[in-house]
Amino acid sequence: MAQSRITRRGVLEAATGLIAAKALPAWAAARGLQPFTLGVASGDPVPDGFVIWTRMAPEPLAPDGLGGLRAPVPVRWEIAADEGMSHIVQAGHVQADSRFAHSAHVEVAGLKPDRPYWYRFTAMGEQSPVGRARTAPAPGQQVDRLHFAFASCSNWERGYFSAYRHMAEEQPDLVMFLGDYIYEGSLDPALTPGLARRHQTPDPVDLAGYRLRFASYHTDPDLQALHAAAPSLMTWDDHEVENDYSNQWSEWPKTDPAAFLKRRAASYRAYYEHMPLRRRSIPRGPDMQVYDRFRWGELAEFHVLDGRQYRTAMQACPTADFRGGHQVGADCAERTDPRRSMLGWAQEAWLFDGLKRSKAPWTILAQDLLVAQGIAKAPATDAPTWRTDAWDGYASTRTRVLDAITASRAANPVFLSGDAHAFFVNDLKQRWGDPSSPVVAAEFLGTSVTSDGGVEASIRPVLDANPDIHLYEPRYRGYVSMTLSRARLDTRLQVVSDRADPKASVSTLMAYVVESGKPGAVPA
Ligand code: FE
Ligand code: CA
Repeated sequence: MAQSRITRRGVLEAATGLIAAKALPAWAAARGLQPFTLGVASGDPVPDGFVIWTRMAPEPLAPDGLGGLRAPVPVRWEIAADEGMSHIVQAGHVQADSRFAHSAHVEVAGLKPDRPYWYRFTAMGEQSPVGRARTAPAPGQQVDRLHFAFASCSNWERGYFSAYRHMAEEQPDLVMFLGDYIYEGSLDPALTPGLARRHQTPDPVDLAGYRLRFASYHTDPDLQALHAAAPSLMTWDDHEVENDYSNQWSEWPKTDPAAFLKRRAASYRAYYEHMPLRRRSIPRGPDMQVYDRFRWGELAEFHVLDGRQYRTAMQACPTADFRGGHQVGADCAERTDPRRSMLGWAQEAWLFDGLKRSKAPWTILAQDLLVAQGIAKAPATDAPTWRTDAWDGYASTRTRVLDAITASRAANPVFLSGDAHAFFVNDLKQRWGDPSSPVVAAEFLGTSVTSDGGVEASIRPVLDANPDIHLYEPRYRGYVSMTLSRARLDTRLQVVSDRADPKASVSTLMAYVVESGKPGAVPA
């Protein structure tokens, strides 16, 4: 309550011009506050540039969500050819203002392909940390090797982001965030003892609240180190807005879709404000495009998908009091109804068109949810059940996508996935569990950075019920590191020693390889 009152007062002050023109209030300057508390980031690398991002917030947790600032802040940005920032190749100014919470998104162009660059910002008499970005190879350029890593599900309260720190230390060419980058809901320490840390701000329902939640995550030093180390591609999952939502449908039937879309608009806007995204991603009300395509020279095409925003229907077979993810049996016809789409018809058409036109030797589909069928047996009857929240809940979408991959002959399709808080290595087939059905694509799911996984006893039942799932490992937190060449995709499942240890070490749990022309992963 207090939060929204302060927000309204903030808006009123801004509208009536009652605020001091000085960017940093005198009391803040006197306390030695500096604006770059949320780090720097780069994203969307193309052959001649990338986008660089920062957000000025001398007081990142100021309750109105505006980071302790009111007036517009002039920001200088610089791109250098060297880490020491002595050979500046481009520079300019932008104005950051309260409409976008004093975030700065600069779309840099005119750079040379396939090389690293360094960048920094200067504002309010302070310099930001230096970030490292890189341009993509030129179209058609032969590429020996692309090193990238992806992660999902970083719950602040469950632990420290050591996975992010170790990803940064790998100095990859590219990183991918595949959803649940923040968690909107806080855990109850009475029910979940042993939390590593607590969310520092109230659970978000409006723009000020989501700004605070995103900002608080961005104060994390490991998250900042990762963003400063490499450009990113990103999509989201549910927790950036609300657990298990589908398009305009909250998991709670009492939440009116119109009210839910207002909340979605607030969270999407805060997401834009905190991510290295281009102007084309600026949300319009509750709509914001994050699905996109990226080329990496002659080597690979990335299709980044959005599994949440465009669902044509709420989760299959909801109950009167719950619309979130749940298990349903074969009697739930909605689950396989071809009139339902998880990606939405426009995104499906866009994906199929891209697959048809792709000439890349590798086709990487990066997205937020488990694609493979994951049967669970009902405890009493042993009858198969499926979860409604992921691709199993929109099985016709999966069939259409696998059909489109087969028909287009898009080369070497590999899905990268999030959400499930376990490592999965799967074969994706047209006919599940049928040894004679050809493998269409491989899928790797990259466990969670910190979010809770599962216990050893859950492993055997999953593997026994699902012969196309080759690895299910819910006990470890971490990320996935990949090295792609023309001939093969080498994959390491990376695990951190202890999510509760801010200095956790990293090791490789398993390594897999996908060889060009042989769909599916095999242990390396
Ligand atoms: Fe998650
Ligand atoms: Ca999720």
